[in-house]
Formats: sequence, C-alpha cells, structure tokens
Amino acid sequence: MNLEAYRGLPSTVGGVGLDLVNAPMIRHWCEALGDANPAYAAAGPEAIAPPAMLQAWTMGPSGRREHFDALMRELDAAGYASVVATDCEQQYVRPLRIGERVLFDSDIESVSAEKHTTLGTGYFVTTRMDVRAYDEAAGEKPGDATPVGSHRFRILKFTPAERRERPQGVDAKALRPRPVVNRDNAGYWEGVAAGELRFQRCDDCAAARFPWLPGCNACGSDRWHAEAASGDGAVYSKVVVHHPLPPAFGTKPYPVALVELAEGVRIVANVLGAAPDEIGIGMPVRLGFQRHDDALLLPVFHPSGPDRLPPLRVPVTRTLIVAGALASRDYQEVHHDAEFARTKGAPDIFMNILTTNGLVGRYVTDWTGPDARVESIAIRLGVPAYPGDELQFSGEVTERGEDGRLMLAIRGTGRLGVHVSGTVKVRVKGASA
Ligand code: ZN
Repeated sequence: MNLEAYRGLPSTVGGVGLDLVNAPMIRHWCEALGDANPAYAAAGPEAIAPPAMLQAWTMGPSGRREHFDALMRELDAAGYASVVATDCEQQYVRPLRIGERVLFDSDIESVSAEKHTTLGTGYFVTTRMDVRAYDEAAGEKPGDATPVGSHRFRILKFTPAERRERPQGVDAKALRPRPVVNRDNAGYWEGVAAGELRFQRCDDCAAARFPWLPGCNACGSDRWHAEAASGDGAVYSKVVVHHPLPPAFGTKPYPVALVELAEGVRIVANVLGAAPDEIGIGMPVRLGFQRHDDALLLPVFHPSGPDRLPPLRVPVTRTLIVAGALASRDYQEVHHDAEFARTKGAPDIFMNILTTNGLVGRYVTDWTGPDARVESIAIRLGVPAYPGDELQFSGEVTERGEDGRLMLAIRGTGRLGVHVSGTVKVRVKGASA
C-alpha cells in the first residue's frame, strides 16, 4: 500500500447539506443529549444551532469522495476493516441559524504510519473540512455562502487486537470491593443512594461524627440524628496509590484523599478531575458521586472554586447512545447494533464521537449560560463509553482572556478510565466591560 500518496488529496468535493438547518433536528439533538440551552430552542432569527452539531449538517451522501473511498477500500482490503473515531477538532466562526444550507469540502490531511494501539493495529487517517453556509430560506444563493467553521476529524482504521478473555469492567472479579452494611451504618448508605453524604450529630453534646458509630466520641451518648453534609470541603491529606493495583482500580496510580467537610468531619474518598500531583493539601473540593457498577455508588470529590466547573454526571444509557447517534445522523452499526459491535471486537455498542463532542459542548454551556459563544471544541477519545457506564465531567479554566474569552480543559471519566479529554474556547458575553 502506498498510503502516503493520499496525503493532501481531496476527501469530499462539493458537499451540500441534505437538509437546511432546522428546528426539528436541533430539538432531536437537544433531547438526545439532554441539552436545555434556551439559545437552541428560541424561535425565529434568534435561534442558533448547537455549535457541536456542525458535523451533523454534513452527514449523509453528498459530494464526490473518490479518493477517501479508495483509501478506505484499500485499508479494508488489507485487513484494516474496523474503524473508530479518535479525535475531533471543531472551530466555529459563527453560529448556524435556521434556514441556512451548509456547503463543505474536505482534504485528506494525513495518513499515519502503521500504529499499534490498545484497540489493534492500524492507520490514523485525518481529514480537515471547511464548512460554509448561506441563508437559502431568505433567498441567498450558494455564492453568498460565508465561512461557518472547520472540522478536523481523525479515525483509526484497524485490525482488532485479540479480545481479552475477561474484558475490564465486565468481570465480576474486577469489581470494586463491596461495603459492609450493618445496622450501625445503614443510614449512611441510604444517604449515598439518595445522593447525600450523611454524618451523625450527637443529640446531647452536638458533636458531629464520621464514620458512623453507635455512640458519641465526645460524651458517650447513644442519642443522635443524621445530617446531610453541604458538600463543600477541603483536602486535609492525601496519598497516591501506585502498587499493587487491583484490577477494579484501573492501571494508573490513583489518589486517595482525606477530605475535611465544612461541617468538620473527615472522610476518605477519591478525588476526580485532577491529576494526582495537582491535588494539594487545603485544595477546596466539592462532593460528587461516582457509579462504579449497578450496585456500587460511592461519594467522590472534585476540585472546586472559581476556576472549576461543577461536576456533571451523565448516565450512559443505551437510549443516550442510540439517540445521540441518530441525532448526529451517524448510522454506523457499532452505535446501535450490539451483535454487530461484537463482530467488530467491542463488547457492546458504544457512544459515537459526535455525541461525546455534543456532551462536552453541553457541559460548558450549562456552566456559562446561553449567552456564551463556543468558539472551538477539540477532543480526544480515550476508553469507549458502553451502556451502563456513567460519565463524570469535570473542567477547569486554564486561561482567562481580556475580552471574556476562556480556555477550558474538560475531562469525562467513566468506569474504564478517561473517555474524553480536550479543550474548549468560549467567549462569555458581558464578562468584561
Ligand atoms: Zn455527644
């Protein structure tokens, strides 16, 4: 194979969006992804499309793709028949509005050398697309089209590695240890199930205590009541566990913190959303919950403060995966047909990259509010998100510009590890005079 010959060739020539930008497709997208941003539900000229939908308007057969199709056929014929998207970088010049038609062209930017990955052996193919649009509903012509954004997309065409006999996250032996629940601590676990971190307070001397005990450490009284913690706290101490790593705890060193809650009691928990060496003593943290499997939900903490986005939990349901794939017009079987996905070496259907990209966009605008303008989203996929998982999104502000522009680092973590990491540039209107 002379794959190098494809570099720089056109990928899609003369692509035309099959549908005008329209309210029903926007609504389906927002419903599928749980995005309640009112900017996308507005009527008339105020309405804009979610920026992360950019690629969705270009999906479907349109334009000439002979070089790209030839490259895919050549890789298929050589045995690299599986495909997975790995990176997506979108830059948004302006929002798309209802009634506009998109036009798009793309090039094959690069084809990598053969790479060995955890999924298998194959080639990364990167394309770069320019998207323009004109207001067809208002009588504009294709020649009136102006730039909307660009979209760099990387896929891996690969031969699946031999499946491990016991895929991580499925094997019962790889589950986290179960808590011992008894009559003295049952109220604590009932609180966790209800999304609360409950501690005890003595009815006689008002001392707070945690972990749960039958009697008061301060006065010995056995009269107490439970209170729900506010969720604010600070790291009191921490360790990083390097070795040995039981399978359920992943393959990377992980931090365990002793968190002092605002109410004065301390709890041992994981801190998510920060690298182990970023977790410092005194760091403000905020309570969250992490689902490890169907039967185990544990309290965790996320870094908090003005530079941190509040955590967002997104259950990865079969419905979200399928509805997200459909809303982004991605009909690849691996996103809706579990039997087919297994023939491609995956244990089940998995979330498509456009849904992940949309969730990252939603996470950011949930925080900024509807007046913010997302200018770019660049993400890299890590481990897949399968049904039954739960993504924990966390984020931080890494740069603050003079003009209300923020650079954010975003991460979405599931049971198997980091599902998505990336950066988002957003301009917050009115953030500066
Ligand atoms: Zn007491």
